[in-house]
Amino acid sequence: MKRPAWIILIGALLALCLLAILLPRPETIDSGQRMIMGTVSKVIVVAKDRAQAIACIEKVFQEQHRIEAVMSFHRADSELSMLNSKAYQGPVEVTTELLELVQKAVQISRLSHGGFDITVGPLVKLWRQAGQSQSLPTDQQIGSVLQKVGYHRLQIDPDHRTIKFLAEGMMLDLGGIAKGYAVDRSIEIARQTGVLGCLVDLGGNIRCFGKAPEGRPYWIVGIQDPCQAGSFGPNAIAMTLRLPDKAVATSGHYYRFQQIQGRSFSHIIDPRTGCPSQALASVTVVAPDATTADAFSTAISVLGLDQGLALARSLPEVAAIIISGRNAGGLEVAMTENAKDLVLQGPRK
Ligand code: AMP
Ligand code: MG
Repeated sequence: MKRPAWIILIGALLALCLLAILLPRPETIDSGQRMIMGTVSKVIVVAKDRAQAIACIEKVFQEQHRIEAVMSFHRADSELSMLNSKAYQGPVEVTTELLELVQKAVQISRLSHGGFDITVGPLVKLWRQAGQSQSLPTDQQIGSVLQKVGYHRLQIDPDHRTIKFLAEGMMLDLGGIAKGYAVDRSIEIARQTGVLGCLVDLGGNIRCFGKAPEGRPYWIVGIQDPCQAGSFGPNAIAMTLRLPDKAVATSGHYYRFQQIQGRSFSHIIDPRTGCPSQALASVTVVAPDATTADAFSTAISVLGLDQGLALARSLPEVAAIIISGRNAGGLEVAMTENAKDLVLQGPRK
């Protein structure tokens, strides 16, 4: 006897429901916070099971520790410190990894007309000492340190994989780009573990790929309200962005600064003047990779609102959201056209 079509349909629906219940669901695991590269590191993984997610998190943290050991400005035994101590005496051979990151940094120095410059090391040191002694450097001191700064004083020989400094006392500081690089490497490692999706956040340098938690169609990230510095939670989020397989980085005055004689100074230095940048409250850059996002967020912080927006607009792959402060009407936010498509909520008043 032929069964009515509706019985077949209900049977098929029941079978589908049963399958959905029985099929294993992806697990979402949040690593919690670790201190790596002088900042907070966090990984969220969506994986077929818990074991796969945890293995992925451990591999990502391992890779970040490895990069810290190579690129730290503060560790005397890092490859970067070896380079800094020897590259004035003669060309120093470096690993391909370090060479390529330095080359990328120099390329961004050119694009940002010197706003971004990893040779800023001696100035970072000068201003750190000023913070410790609570006395501002004199114009003469700044002028003499500026003689040791400038990417045009770097001699890079890609054929022999060497770097040489053309001025005595030069020092590279990768603080404005290395965390982004570590995030890119982390994403590569996470992909290799076969997890379904992953988001890596290293001190505000974020990149994600693949499946987002809770079946959402994309990963969502929040931009901190720079005028609520130090506070966390939903009220401290100025806006939220959707992030489809991209990277986002935020640099800003609110994030790290120091007080000297009662005035606050940014940790970002303008290599053209030798002084801390009159930093914008926060600069968020979305780019295809985290190295680019990290370097351009620092670069735009130096260049300021108008020049910074002009730089971002000249690069189709880069979207920028600049929060310059707060007035009676709420946060003062400017953004490139391509950033508007990424905004889910905000800016908050
Ligand atoms: P970020 O937090 O990514 O904006 O990077 C800031 C860090 O980069 C500082 O703590 C310094 O180590 C370094 N830095 C400061 N000024 C500059 C600059 N103009 N260009 C490149 N790196 C910089
Ligand atoms: Mg940066």
